[in-house]
Amino acid sequence: ASQDDRYTETFLWVGGAFLVSLALLALATAAAIRSDADRRRGERRFRTLVQESADVISVVDGTGMHQYVSPSTLAVMGYRPEELAGRPYQELLNPDDVERAMRIHRAIIQNPAQEVRFETRLRHADNTWHWHEIVARNMLADPTIRGIVFNHRDVTERRRFADQLAHEASHDALTGLANRAVFLQDLAQALLSADGLTWHTGVLFLDLNDFKGINDSWGHETGDAVLVTTAQVLQASVRGSDTVARVGGDEFGIVLAKIDEPRNAEDVAQRIISGLIKPIDAAGHTLQVSLSIGIAIQDQDTHDPDELLRQADLAMYKAKRCKGNSYQMFRADLDTAHTAGTPTVRELETAIAQQQLYLEYQPIVAIASGELLGAEALVRWRHPTLGTLGPLAFIPLAEDSGLIKPLGAWVLRSACAQVRRWQQGWSGDRGLALSVNLSPQQLEVPDLVDQVLRILDETGFAPHDLALEITENALVKEDIAIRVLAQLHDHGIRLALDDFGTGYSSLRYLTNLPVDILKLDRCFVTELDGTPEGSAVAEAVIRLSHVLRIDAIAEGIEDVGQANELAQLGYAVAQGYHFAKPLGPEAFEAILNQAVPRLPVVLDGPGVTCSAGGGPPRSSA
Ligand code: C2E
Ligand code: CA
Ligand code: CA
Repeated sequence: ASQDDRYTETFLWVGGAFLVSLALLALATAAAIRSDADRRRGERRFRTLVQESADVISVVDGTGMHQYVSPSTLAVMGYRPEELAGRPYQELLNPDDVERAMRIHRAIIQNPAQEVRFETRLRHADNTWHWHEIVARNMLADPTIRGIVFNHRDVTERRRFADQLAHEASHDALTGLANRAVFLQDLAQALLSADGLTWHTGVLFLDLNDFKGINDSWGHETGDAVLVTTAQVLQASVRGSDTVARVGGDEFGIVLAKIDEPRNAEDVAQRIISGLIKPIDAAGHTLQVSLSIGIAIQDQDTHDPDELLRQADLAMYKAKRCKGNSYQMFRADLDTAHTAGTPTVRELETAIAQQQLYLEYQPIVAIASGELLGAEALVRWRHPTLGTLGPLAFIPLAEDSGLIKPLGAWVLRSACAQVRRWQQGWSGDRGLALSVNLSPQQLEVPDLVDQVLRILDETGFAPHDLALEITENALVKEDIAIRVLAQLHDHGIRLALDDFGTGYSSLRYLTNLPVDILKLDRCFVTELDGTPEGSAVAEAVIRLSHVLRIDAIAEGIEDVGQANELAQLGYAVAQGYHFAKPLGPEAFEAILNQAVPRLPVVLDGPGVTCSAGGGPPRSSA
């Protein structure tokens, strides 16, 4: 009998063990003790089973050398059995799988008669790799077999299908990005592997601006194309180990695993914004899209994915205030307007009467030297139960309830009195300018002009040292506003257009109003990234100020790069965390007490000249 036949014989037993498990083996054994005819019939049946099996059945010796290979190998793998006979099965293994397969091989050797099941990639005759599911049994001790029996089948299709199902369950079909479930999972995982001390997890929450508008005016096909392109930009802006997910209709989330400082997350935001500065091609339309990005960074205390997400979401809403691309880092003080409940009108009334309000003063400085030029007064409320509230948490309430009138008067009186004391005690030979914010409703107070003049008189404050900051939306009732502001200006008080550039009618107001100062909104400072696109608005505003011969102040400078770029564009005066946060009176006095009051600035590079335009806020008074 040929070797082939001998093995086929063997499979009377092995095939039983394999294909129909031990029960069949028992059956076969039973068959063996039945009549000879029965036995031969049984043999034929199993021979057919092995020979015709769609599975590949092979027997290898202890070293892995093929002793027998079933004919089905040709159909399944493209090899004729004799091609493989006498060659080690290891030759067929994918190099990446060899190490693991060898471990499994040792386990098979060590565990005679035990079934071992595994999956691995094998090379087919046409040089393609296919996944095989292999069931192996060590029958080296079995005198009729003396080998390890492999029974395998090609499961490439099954795996591909399973992978596809898994991918579909975890990914967004349109953009191919991870979905919300994976995002949350990866975020939780990242938080576990970073301690918040040396390694942090960063979360970016991104929302397309006016996506509804895009859908409404260009159709859903275009909307889809915008989402796909945005997804590509996001993916291209992160490392392979980060997770980019589509977490809602036009919302995206990014998990930055293991970053060593918050700055890394801002760099990512900056890269994304740079990637979206140029118009994109979406289903045949050329569109300009922009994103609002909120960033939250894990610290020692945050290990809760939901909390980090909430922070990133909150920061994103702050970023929305800017019309174009912008990002905002979460800070604890953003929280005040949103958490811990909301104050009531009655409480606010009490607060004004009982001195629960207080002012902080944010330094306004010469951008190149850090020299202190003035301060903007910013109101806060020490609420008895809700803690310290920022103005965004109660100014709207004051405006709606009419309490803004007494509140505004209190702010102006307190700030003028305070700064006047500083001016008198300060031996320097320069004045100290004061900026105070004015709400739209205050412009409608019938005797506003008288009230302001009275306060200046009572506190001895010079009108030309005071700037009143108004936002464009303050000018809704234009005729009244123009009249009141013109009167104030006639008395020497300076007017600043706050948040300049974010409204729609900036330019028109400029021609109708006696404006002295433009305050470049923080949005346009965050857009600075060293490119002409990033500095377009900042540059336009400084040019405008030169043409109109008025001052410009850049707001919200948070780092030296921004300070540098603004100085190079010609800005001379600035305000922002890079120089100083809003300070309590004592902290502010500490600066005043320096021989030459200045804040630390680091400007690099030659050619930083700050003579053009601008000047200190009071220079043109
Ligand atoms: P605003 O007039 O634009 O004031 C600047 C705001 O930006 C302040 O927030 C300030 O803390 C913040 N800021 C300053 N530098 C930076 C920076 O580098 N980065 C960032 N991210 N932010 C910076 P604050 O104190 O929360 O005031 C918010 C707004 O509340 C003010 O915006 C102003 O419109 C209003 N407000 C403040 N005080 C008064 C007030 O007495 N009366 C009225 N009517 N409104 C006020
Ligand atoms: Ca302001
Ligand atoms: Ca502002």
